[in-house]
Amino acid sequence: MQTQWVTEAANGYGQTIEVTRQLCCRQSKFQKIEVYETRKLGKLLLLDGIIQLTSYDEFAYQEMMAHLPYYAHGNPERILVIGGGDGGVLRELARHREPAVLDLCDIDSEVIRAAKEFLPEMSCGFDDPRVTVHIADGSEFIRRKPGYYDLVIVDSTDPGGPGAPLFGEEFYADLKRALRPGGVVGTQAESPWLLPDVVRKLVDAARSNFKFVDYAAISVPTYPTGMIGCCVASDDKILTVPAALPDPELAGKLRYYNEKVHEAAFAKPQFVSGLLG
Ligand code: SAM
Repeated sequence: MQTQWVTEAANGYGQTIEVTRQLCCRQSKFQKIEVYETRKLGKLLLLDGIIQLTSYDEFAYQEMMAHLPYYAHGNPERILVIGGGDGGVLRELARHREPAVLDLCDIDSEVIRAAKEFLPEMSCGFDDPRVTVHIADGSEFIRRKPGYYDLVIVDSTDPGGPGAPLFGEEFYADLKRALRPGGVVGTQAESPWLLPDVVRKLVDAARSNFKFVDYAAISVPTYPTGMIGCCVASDDKILTVPAALPDPELAGKLRYYNEKVHEAAFAKPQFVSGLLG
């Protein structure tokens, strides 16, 4: 079959991936959902034309978004993922035996349905018996559970579209209220190369609410500029050093996260330190 090229174009920047087959193209109430087979990078998921993941490098993002905040906390029992409908962050969290509660709240049940149908290697985390799925806007759901979670991970789409309420100061205040003492949050925090104003704004929103806030860089070749960040925040924990480490069995299976990467992810080039103040 003749191949085609799919281009993500946003914020004055584009990147193009060669695809061999379209597996899914659906319009949900919130966004257009597309899954492709690519020539070199395995499967590709796009929401409203924006790359969410490829099989080639998704492990970098999912492991860092899950395990970095997890080990910054050390032993979270109750965990919530906001967004994350592809299931990748949940898959990583389900590798931990200790948590009793794994909640996921995505606004769009169609993303979860498409992931279960076309991306089983991502969505396998949904099968864990500890998982409860809530279909709701995460910015509203978070207000229903004050003082409940040890760890909240926000794996959202970008600030345009349904993800917009997950980037404001009010949301960070609600995240803080949802935590138990010692709680930690980790949020998808964009790229300082491409969206410096968004990064600055969300780090400021976190700083207005939490005592300890930092920005960890993650190398993901198929995200624009090849990187994305995780903003971690807590009132009680020093986040830059893990409070616990993966057991040897899990450590041997991880492909990106380790203790040294945890610490190194917080090292900042001068322009990023300058941006974050
Ligand atoms: N890692 C991805 C990225 O940044 O490219 C994000 C992946 S995940 C598929 C993003 C999920 O966030 C989507 O399933 C979308 O439906 C969900 N989402 C967007 N806005 C939301 C909101 N306000 N509340 C809950 N989920 C939301």
